[in-house]
Amino acid sequence: MVSEWEIKKEICELGRRMYVNGYVAANDGNISCRMGDGRYLCTPTGVSKGFLKPGDIAVVDDNGKQLDGPLPRTSEVLLHLEIFHELPEVNAVCHAHPPHATAFAVSGIPIPTGILPEVEIFIGQIPLADYETPGSKNFAETVLPHLNNKANTILLANHGAVACDKDLLHAYFHLETLDMYCKILLLSKQVGNINRLPGSKVKELLDIKSTMGIEDPRHDCTTESCVLAGSDEFLKGFSSTPIPQHSAGADGHGRGMGIEGEPSQRGEPQPMPEQEMRRGVAMAAGRILSGTGKLGGSSTTAQRRAEEDEIERVVQLVTDQIMEG
Ligand SMILES: [Zn+2]
Repeated sequence: MVSEWEIKKEICELGRRMYVNGYVAANDGNISCRMGDGRYLCTPTGVSKGFLKPGDIAVVDDNGKQLDGPLPRTSEVLLHLEIFHELPEVNAVCHAHPPHATAFAVSGIPIPTGILPEVEIFIGQIPLADYETPGSKNFAETVLPHLNNKANTILLANHGAVACDKDLLHAYFHLETLDMYCKILLLSKQVGNINRLPGSKVKELLDIKSTMGIEDPRHDCTTESCVLAGSDEFLKGFSSTPIPQHSAGADGHGRGMGIEGEPSQRGEPQPMPEQEMRRGVAMAAGRILSGTGKLGGSSTTAQRRAEEDEIERVVQLVTDQIMEG
């Protein structure tokens, strides 16, 4: 059996990782562990998680009353206790302000599902709890409806995130997975597109999850829309179609779908949608007109409008011809 001192050392190690990974600034964040005898270990208030020592760790009872430790317990211990009371199988809770995840908590835009396999399996849907003043009983209770819906990782509006699991390491790992996921989502948006997994593939992941004994309310889903339920607000403006499915060539190698307008891997041009074509033609027309001196030297609004009309006319003409051809 692991000694209480060893558990205190593990809390310090995970606190150090939270700090080094930038999930907490200054004295932010807190970690707790259920000891099984009505006692709970938790981090003290006013100490950086990057510099915790095992002797700093506080001990509290079921109501958050301090039983031991040289420093006052974290003010957010009520949130941790709410989770322990609600979920008997949970023995550890980690709370931090991981920046990429907290950006979603601040924006109020829900984190989409159906993007990365590991996230589907180890976390699943990530709800956003309502805002309440940190440290209060009302704040602690904001997570209740989401705990009842099997969430192990919850965003806290305008604040951060809290994760829980059967042991300290798994609870901490949820924070790592969460912030990495949110970082990838934000980077993908900068790259320019986000493809979603097809519902049937998410269902396969949920089946794997089930065999691993991890609960997910979507296990009972029978339709694609149910599996992919949740807001896709973050994905607006991006591909709503599932990821391209690669087909195997005669040599057994997969073939990509290619990029529209560019030669495919077989050297065939891919079809280009009319909107894309119009944009390309407009750019070319602008370059031609500016090369002939018809663009750029205009001094009046009327002249500029006339030039824009001329470009539009050329664009329409060329686009029509290409589409017909
Ligand atoms: Zn906090």
